[in-house]
Amino acid sequence: TMPSLNQIRQTFLDYFAKQGHEVVSSSSLVPHNDPTLMFTNAGMVQFKNVFTGAETRPYNRATTSQKCVRAGGKHNDLDNVGYTARHHTFFEMLGNFSFGNYFKAEAIEFAWNLMTKDYGLDKNRLMATVYIDDDEAFDLWKKIAGLPESKIARIAGSDNFWSMGDTGPCGPCTEIFYDHGDHIWGGPPGTPEEDGDRFVEIWNLVFMQFDQSADGTRVSLPKPSIDTGMGLERVAAVLQGVHNNYDIDLFQTLIKASVEATGVKAEGDNLPSHRVIADHLRSSSFLIADGVTPSNEGRGYVLRRIMRRAMRHAYLLGAQEPLLHKLAPTLVAEMGGHYGELKRAEASIIDTLRQEEERFRRTLGRGMTLLDEATRDLKDGDVMNGETAFKLYDTYGFPLDLTQDAIRGKGLTVDTAGFDTAMEAQKTRGRENWTGSGEKAQSAEWFTIKDAIGASDFVGYDHLNAQAHVQ
Ligand code: ATP
Ligand code: MG
Ligand code: MG
Ligand code: MG
Repeated sequence: TMPSLNQIRQTFLDYFAKQGHEVVSSSSLVPHNDPTLMFTNAGMVQFKNVFTGAETRPYNRATTSQKCVRAGGKHNDLDNVGYTARHHTFFEMLGNFSFGNYFKAEAIEFAWNLMTKDYGLDKNRLMATVYIDDDEAFDLWKKIAGLPESKIARIAGSDNFWSMGDTGPCGPCTEIFYDHGDHIWGGPPGTPEEDGDRFVEIWNLVFMQFDQSADGTRVSLPKPSIDTGMGLERVAAVLQGVHNNYDIDLFQTLIKASVEATGVKAEGDNLPSHRVIADHLRSSSFLIADGVTPSNEGRGYVLRRIMRRAMRHAYLLGAQEPLLHKLAPTLVAEMGGHYGELKRAEASIIDTLRQEEERFRRTLGRGMTLLDEATRDLKDGDVMNGETAFKLYDTYGFPLDLTQDAIRGKGLTVDTAGFDTAMEAQKTRGRENWTGSGEKAQSAEWFTIKDAIGASDFVGYDHLNAQAHVQ
């Protein structure tokens, strides 16, 4: 029988507990005391200060299953969802950590034994990459795992030098890939076809050695440490004998709920819509559970963008009324056992999803009509004018990335310079009106109207300054 997602998570935590690791709970998706980071994007985030030596813990080995969101900032996978077999906006990162305790040899040995013994993966399908000049790691893969040299690739680029963001702990890494077989397009890392989904990266072992400061200089950490991250959904796909992450048990359950609620089968053009809805439902719900609410700036705007992207797909499936909140109980039933916060927040997740979808639906249909008209005569490679994109944004509440995503399938892009110009012109008009009227009441009313139609004020969501004031 196939292990479930919940069992695979437990096997990982039990394995490292047995090896003397403290089992630590996932930290919040909103990083505490870290204005440099949009959302928690890796397991090491909660241990950042332990690596640098600024904080000590009563243990020097830890293991976690960390909630991660990659939808903004340095690691942004929003545009991959629905297009690759392996990316989510929300995913769980399984990790083991050594704070100045063990280093490369033990990290590789732990990983190899878990994969090939406890998980029972086929050795012949595994391969590794190492940082270009890391002879030590190269030799360890030969010695410990018995990998032939042809299955250990030396990589020069940033793929094998991991960092959380522009600052913080970082170091060279070794990544483990699983070969799903030659019936799937793609090539091993380091080849031109590596972005295909045949060889899927399942685990990254980072040799934490440096702390990077804002000016790019790196100083050595007090002690060499280990930080690893394995994608739970990716290893589940392998263990459940499927290729695509969206075919694992959890996603099949979510997609089934979406199919039942819409009456639309998960096939053909509708399949990506169901997948995107399942993915975005998860990230939205977990973000809401961690206290993020949809808004027009910073983290709240990223949440709004994710929600509205899903809501456009609900519309494409022909949903006549708000859909997402109806699927939330299924998610809570599946994941609330391990993540109690999801269960506790269930009512507020449902409310938030329903309100946002009701609100966006007031303009969504008309926006889609405008979008269809504006792109009807365009063909592959054409550019849609920025003014229309701005109108969609300003009047119909379509975040720019939603519009870009909506027309990407036709091979179209948006003239973003034109969008910015229209935005600037709007702001100038707004300022003139503001000083001209001198009436506070009038401006307040203007904002209320804007609010009611769901238009959003653009704030550079990848910018640190934009995040700083939501804290
Ligand atoms: P990829 O190259 O496939 O985008 P990555 O190198 O960006 O992955 P890491 O930063 O090394 O990923 O994160 C550690 C692990 O977390 C990866 O090996 C992978 O298993 C998992 N992972 C990373 N991003 C995602 C995602 N968007 N969805 C699901 N799992 C992910
Ligand atoms: Mg990535
Ligand atoms: Mg990678
Ligand atoms: Mg990686």
